[in-house]
Amino acid sequence: MHDLFHAYILLGPLEETQKEAIKIAKTANCLEKNDGFCDYCKNCVKIEKGVFADLVEVKPEGSSVKIESIRDIIFDSYLSPVEGKKKVYVIYEADKMTLEAQNSILKTLEEPPSQSIFILLSENIKNIIPTVISRCRVIERAKPFKKYTFDKDFVDKLFKVIMEGSLPHEKLDFFNQITNLDDKEAVLEFLSTLYRDVLVAKTNSKVKIVNEEYQDVIKNIANRLCIEEVLKIMDKINKTVEYIKSRGNENIGLFNLLLALWR
Ligand SMILES: [Zn+2]
Repeated sequence: MHDLFHAYILLGPLEETQKEAIKIAKTANCLEKNDGFCDYCKNCVKIEKGVFADLVEVKPEGSSVKIESIRDIIFDSYLSPVEGKKKVYVIYEADKMTLEAQNSILKTLEEPPSQSIFILLSENIKNIIPTVISRCRVIERAKPFKKYTFDKDFVDKLFKVIMEGSLPHEKLDFFNQITNLDDKEAVLEFLSTLYRDVLVAKTNSKVKIVNEEYQDVIKNIANRLCIEEVLKIMDKINKTVEYIKSRGNENIGLFNLLLALWR
C-alpha cells in the first residue's frame, strides 16, 4: 500500500477507469497483500461484488455532480472506515462536478484525511479546475498513443513557431510546408500528444511522457504556460481535429490553430 496516493484522476473511457478504481480500492483494503491485492480475501471479494461499505460511489444527478453529494462524502471521509482499512470515494464523470462542488472538494484534497482516498473518473479533464488537477495524481487509461515521427528539420521549425522564435516569413514558409504535407492529421496528433506531455510535466503526474525525445522542449513550454493555458490549447487542438473530421478545410483549420499557438 506504500505507493497509494490520496487522490487520483483516472482519465479515459469509463469501462477502463472503473476497473482501475476497483483495483485501487482493493489495493488499499486487501487483507492478504501489502503490495497489490489478492482478489480472494474478504475485502477484495466484497469490493468486486460491489457490497463493500467503505467503497462509496458518487454519480451525477441529471447533468451535474451536485455540491450536496460532494459535501456528504467530504463529511464521511473524516470518519473511520466501517469494515476496511481505507475509505474509497469514486466520483463518476468528475468533470460534471459544479464549480461549487469542485471548490468544496479542493479543501479536502489539500489536507486529506489519512484514512480516505478520492478517485475522480473522467473522460475529459477539460472541465476540472486546475487547482483540483494539481492535487491529484493523473493516470490515463486511454488507448496507447500512436507515435509520430517527422524529420528533424520539420520538428525544429514547428517548435520554433510554437515558441515564438521564428520571424514572420519563416512562419509563412512553415505554413506552406504544412499545406503540402499528405498527412496533416499526423501534425495535429503530434501537437495533441505534445501538449498532453506538457500537462503531464505541469501536474507532476507519474504518467509516462509520449515524446520523450523532446523532453527539453516540453519542459520549456511547461515553464512558459500555466495549466489553464495548456488546457485551452489542448481544447483548441481537439476542436481543430473535430472541425477537420467534420469535413472542414484542413488548411484553414491548421492555420487557425497555428495562429493561436504562436500568439
Ligand atoms: Zn485481498
